[in-house]
Amino acid sequence: MITRIFPRLMKQLCLRFVTNLFPAAHMPPSLTDALAKPAALTPPVPVGSRFRGQLNYDRAKCVGCRLCVKVCPANATDYIAEEKKILIHNDRCCFCAQCTEICPVKCLTMSGAYLISSYERRESVVTDTGSTQTETKV
Ligand code: SF4
Ligand code: SF4
Repeated sequence: MITRIFPRLMKQLCLRFVTNLFPAAHMPPSLTDALAKPAALTPPVPVGSRFRGQLNYDRAKCVGCRLCVKVCPANATDYIAEEKKILIHNDRCCFCAQCTEICPVKCLTMSGAYLISSYERRESVVTDTGSTQTETKV
């Protein structure tokens, strides 16, 4: 048993961390400073090129085919019939990326943004990000 675990343990020790230290990576000496700039405590860790974060939606490119609405398992996309466009509820999205694969004009893409929790549901509604939002949101 120990002969199987030991090599694995040694391998794990050599791997780089993929998460921030808990509860904070960079805790300042003063709690007041920490509360003033909470995002600085746990800066986003780099994500891989295939990471599936918050959806980008290039509204101008969208042709209103509704395929993304039909394929979504989480009911996270709404079709706006009068505009022939969609909106995305990120608080419902399970980041499966099926909509990005089925979109015929590739106006849906997964970004690297993962710090997207909010107390306000309306903030998680995406109506248009253009084609360039790929950086991690803090
Ligand atoms: S990534 Fe998946 S869950 Fe999210 S909107 Fe697209 S199809 Fe729906
Ligand atoms: S699949 Fe693409 S083009 Fe079709 S409605 Fe959805 S976002 Fe628009």
